[in-house]
Amino acid sequence: MASAAAQTKDSRKKHVPLRRCVSCAKQLPQRELVRIVRDPSGRVSVDLGRKKQSGRGAYLCHEPDCWEKALKKDRLSVALKGAIAAEDRQRLQEFAKGELQQAH
Ligand SMILES: [Zn+2]
Repeated sequence: MASAAAQTKDSRKKHVPLRRCVSCAKQLPQRELVRIVRDPSGRVSVDLGRKKQSGRGAYLCHEPDCWEKALKKDRLSVALKGAIAAEDRQRLQEFAKGELQQAH
């Protein structure tokens, strides 16, 4: 009879890793964020990976504003510890315009 409460407690033990959007600092489960990765050669791209790309990663939520701020205020390059090439920056902007706004 008192077991319902105990069950709820147990199911909460399942650990959901949280990651922080580098722009709005909101913490969300990893799958609700987009991972941006800087590979060892310095290229920055969106990690759409089934297999996780190696390199330094940063996360952004699906809010287009966050992408714009992250790119314009260089939060992303700070998080990735290096400048983002203009070409890569543009591809990220295009991704934000395309993929993210479709999802909205
Ligand atoms: Zn955000």
